[in-house]
Formats: sequence, C-alpha cells, structure tokens
Amino acid sequence: MRRSGAGDSEFVFELRVCAWAERNWPPAGDLDSDTVVLVARQLGTRSRRWDTIVIEADRAELEQRARFGPDRLDSDLLHVLRDAPTEWAYYREALPDPGYPWRYVREAIHRAADRGILETRKRGNRIEIRRRWPYPEWAKRVIAIENKPDLDAGAARVLSEQLQHDVALALADEVWVATRATDERLEPILFETIPTEAGVLAVSEEEIEVLWHPRRLAVEDPGTEITERPTGRQADRSAACFEYTEPATKRETRRAVAERAYERGWRAYVESMRPDCRHFSLRRDQGRGDARENSGMDAEAAITTESGAPLPYCEAKDRHQSGAECSSSCPEFEPEPPTWRSGGWPIEGGPGAAVKRLLAERRQRRRPGLDRS
Ligand code: SF4
Repeated sequence: MRRSGAGDSEFVFELRVCAWAERNWPPAGDLDSDTVVLVARQLGTRSRRWDTIVIEADRAELEQRARFGPDRLDSDLLHVLRDAPTEWAYYREALPDPGYPWRYVREAIHRAADRGILETRKRGNRIEIRRRWPYPEWAKRVIAIENKPDLDAGAARVLSEQLQHDVALALADEVWVATRATDERLEPILFETIPTEAGVLAVSEEEIEVLWHPRRLAVEDPGTEITERPTGRQADRSAACFEYTEPATKRETRRAVAERAYERGWRAYVESMRPDCRHFSLRRDQGRGDARENSGMDAEAAITTESGAPLPYCEAKDRHQSGAECSSSCPEFEPEPPTWRSGGWPIEGGPGAAVKRLLAERRQRRRPGLDRS
C-alpha cells in the first residue's frame, strides 16, 4: 500500500476522508436503500469538535426535513418546532418548560415565523402558535471520525484521551480514527493507546482500508463526561472526576449536530478560501501521480465528474494548499483578471464563482427534497 499524500496538510487529508465517506460509507457491508449519508466536517459540541461527521439519514424523513429549508435549526428552534401544536394554542401552554427564560422561546418563535416554518398569531397580548409540519427525526446514526494523518507518540496520547472521552460519553454511535497508511500492516502506536471501541481506517493514495472495526456505542444510555483526570505523576493520588449526561440531553445534542451537518456539508470549506484567486483550481483526487486536471477555468468539468474527489489545488504552489494558507493574506494571492468574469468568458461570473456555485449545487444534491421546499 502506498502512503497517502505525505506532505499534504491535515486539511487536505480531512477533505479526502470526507469525499471517501460520501462515496463509500459504510466501510463494511451496504446501506439499505432507505438510508443516505450526509458528511460534514469540524462540528461537535462545546467540549469536543470532530473532524469528520457522517450522518446516516432516513431518506423519506430527510425529504420531510427539506420543508424547513437549507439552514440549520438550532436547539431553541428545535424546542419550538418539535413541540408546536397542530391547533392554535398559547405558546406557554403548548410548549414544555424550556428550563431557561421564556423570552428566548419567544425569540425563537419570531425567528421561526420569519423563516416561514411556524404559524403565529396574536390574541390580545398572547402569542399563539401552530405547526406547519411535524419535525422529522431524520438522523438515524451519527458517526465521528478523528483524522490524524501523522501519529507520533505525543499525538497518539492526545488522541487516546479524546477517544476515551467519546467512548465514555457515547454521543456518536461509532467513533473512528483515520490515519495515513504506513508500510507496516498496523500502526503500533495507535493500537497500543486507543480504546478498543474505536475503529481505525488506514488512508493510502489508492484506497481507505479498515484496520479495526469499532464497537457500537450505547447512545441511548446515560453518558459519562470525564471532567478531570489524574496527572499520572507519582505524587498525584487524585481520582478522575465525572459528570453524567442524560439520554435526553444526548438526543438533543445529536439533533443539533445533525442540523449543523445538514446546513454545512463538507464542501463549505470553499467559503473560507479564495477561489477568486487566479491560482485556485480543483483537482480530482486520484493519486499524486495524476497530471494537472484542470485550471480554475475547467472547474466545471472537474467537479461534475463522479470519479475522484475534487480537492482545492494551488497552481502557484503546485500542490494542494491548506485552508489556512489560502486567504487574502497569502503572499501569492492574485485576483482573477476582470476579463475572466466578463461576458464572453465560457463560465458565467468567472472560474472562482463557478467553483463556489458548483460546490453549492453538489452540496444541495445531498439534501433530497430541497428543490421543492
Ligand atoms: S494558496 Fe494563495 S496563491 Fe494559492 S490559490 Fe490560495 S490564495 Fe491563491
């Protein structure tokens, strides 16, 4: 097995894993025809951010979800929409006590009404609400993948703590580590340190291979958060401290994570990069031996093909650039020539606009039913 893109940034490694997951999930076996996957990146909770998130979604429920529009529903909106009555009712009588001040509920009601996803009316001083549609439980399983292309002993220790946290909390149904394939069959550091409940993927240029299958985590049971650990020093006799998380809280968090994944997908990376730079292009990911696939001008051809993942490529640096370096502070940034955006150019608005538009269209295709919402 050839090592994957040694020298590529963690960012590019992560995009490669996202693209692979979108095409090939699950790593073993098949999804049934009623299930589709959504892939997103860099999402999680206040205490833990995952690199790649795969949501296994019920196809029919996902189509129902589309009626609420492409933007996420945050936890305040979900609280209102999930419990909104089918008949007109005063909101304080219709909704369960939120556990926080009612004024936030009123704000969420107004936001929902502005988005056209909840009906409201005034009766005297009272706001009454009525649901437009039931909110579907579209996200069936949440899978978290931690991307660690290069694992030395220090990185493995940090990773091990993160995965112990994930396993103890059991917010995701499965947790995985994706690491660069090495010439050895197994990466020794990895297997000595990480919990056995976590799965392991080895990423090479040609394929992604399962080295270890994960155990399914108990998402419906109370979870445990490790809030403090002993330092490991000899003098330290303290015990680890824990907090418990109720299943209902976990369900809410999973819903909120799924909603953010629905909104963003993994292609939203382009929003923080500079596709309007003349050196920006997309290259299909079919191994580093590939010749140049496209300039920005050929973006459409590169991105609309099903084979390989279109990853950002910098023609000036002659490699895949990281998200951080592709910004207007990049010393090699050069704006697209104005003529690229003018009438006679083959791509409307110029290649940078085409890249954004086509990535957005591809993201849209992953969310069935949105075109009818
Ligand atoms: S890395 Fe710099 S030169 Fe390359 S595409 Fe991005 S902004 Fe342009």
